[in-house]
Amino acid sequence: MEKLSGQLVFELTCPICKDTTKQALKKSAKVLEQYQREIRMVAYDLLLYHLADSHSENNEN
Ligand SMILES: [Zn+2]
Repeated sequence: MEKLSGQLVFELTCPICKDTTKQALKKSAKVLEQYQREIRMVAYDLLLYHLADSHSENNEN
């Protein structure tokens, strides 16, 4: 995670295609420090969405 102008930005790297997805978080960094579980959930959702979108069984290459 990196801080950009007070915002937290996720940077996830897909284990399959090594593609990197960036997602800005709407909450402030200070608030997010208290919600580590929610942060992981957001990251998990992002990865699941990417897997479904790019690596579903019907959409492989
Ligand atoms: Zn991928």
